[in-house]
Amino acid sequence: MLRSHYSKEINEEFHGKEIKVAGWVEDIRNLGGIAFIILRDREGKLQITAIKKENPDLFKKLVSLPRESVIAVEGICQKNEKVMNGWELLPKKLEVLSIASTPLPMGVIDKVNVDFDTRLDNRFIDLRKEETKAIFLIRHSFIKYATEFLRNKGFIEVHTPKITASSSEGGTEVFKVDYFGKDAYLVQSPQLYKQMLMATGFDRVFEIAWYFRAEEHDTSRHLNESTAIDIEMAFISDEEEVMRIAEEMTNYAIQKILDENSKELEKLNVEIDTPSLPYPRIKYDEVVEILQKEIDFKWGDDLGTDEENLLAKHVDYELYFIKDFPLETKPFYAMPNGKYARAFDLEYKGMEIASGAQRIHDYDMLVKRMNELGMNINNFEDYLKAFKYGMPPHGGFGYGIERFLMRLLNLKNIRECILFPRDRKRLRP
Ligand code: ATP
Ligand code: MG
Repeated sequence: MLRSHYSKEINEEFHGKEIKVAGWVEDIRNLGGIAFIILRDREGKLQITAIKKENPDLFKKLVSLPRESVIAVEGICQKNEKVMNGWELLPKKLEVLSIASTPLPMGVIDKVNVDFDTRLDNRFIDLRKEETKAIFLIRHSFIKYATEFLRNKGFIEVHTPKITASSSEGGTEVFKVDYFGKDAYLVQSPQLYKQMLMATGFDRVFEIAWYFRAEEHDTSRHLNESTAIDIEMAFISDEEEVMRIAEEMTNYAIQKILDENSKELEKLNVEIDTPSLPYPRIKYDEVVEILQKEIDFKWGDDLGTDEENLLAKHVDYELYFIKDFPLETKPFYAMPNGKYARAFDLEYKGMEIASGAQRIHDYDMLVKRMNELGMNINNFEDYLKAFKYGMPPHGGFGYGIERFLMRLLNLKNIRECILFPRDRKRLRP
């Protein structure tokens, strides 16, 4: 191995011992007879103190390295209170693994603000920055613990197709692909498949899903390729059972992030309190009353960004549900309840982060709803078939991973929360 220890692992006990570290040359300060090199690895930084007269060749090689070159260094740990972290490495052997070209397309530690496009164009360097890295370490924790919660609750992980013959959520916002000369589409969500799986007996499934949506808008909360935690559960008596999974999963993950990511949260200047359970439920009708005091809003209208923000000003909580939506605002598969749908949205600081519902499980009712909405049921033959031979009552949700992170970490742009964002203008890198 090129490395025996990460920088973070070194402590008092290492004084006088030999170790091997490896990483990027973040900074070099050459004072002539002595030079200080900051080596950065995944876990932190370490100062390498090179003294010219002790090893002139090694000294020369080290100080002439361009920043961000990759090296492995063998040396002796030395306690030194004056140095960052309290210790330094006195190098004995240097291996240059990769020399960085100059100039760098963007700096890693420079204080000058690089614009977001430059950061995204050079994402591999952007991710060397502590703050950028912190977002993705927290993203890792969120997925790890949200899915741990689901596994503990008996959900099994599934993977459904991303290329299909018909569009899932209806509408025209689909990416068409050429499938051996036939038209095919990228899925907008795993909706139809996870519902079909409810007819198998799996009862509870989840998927870390990709959503592909050819929405033309250019906003700070939409991506054309995004990820979600999708769940579906059978034998439910109402949508409240699904909502409880959504809120408990959220709290479980937030608590774990607080426990394990304090360093990253600090880097991002974020303070979080675990919200109390259950999250408040606000009925759509109440939302209408609140909004009508300030804006022109009709019962049956969809809630957009402005409405969601306005509502948030009137609610004392960061996380809350809106439920009992008018049937016409929700997709065809939502279970009707008179003029309402048994559907909910989870809101976080005034933005929708998840949508869910109890679904229709009765074949005739489903076909009737699709016909009412003018849908061509022939396109949904495979989906509908699963409802004909024994389909239990079920429900589920789609929970945007980037949306959650954006709100948790108070980030202004959803593109901060995905490694290589896809939007109308960006198809690279
Ligand atoms: P919105 O109305 O906010 O655009 P939606 O109601 O169209 O979202 P759903 O179909 O309900 O979205 O998808 C479930 C969840 O997936 C959303 O609550 C959101 O968190 C996430 N999501 C949906 N579309 C996008 C997108 N284009 N970019 C990022 N996340 C998305
Ligand atoms: Mg929605």
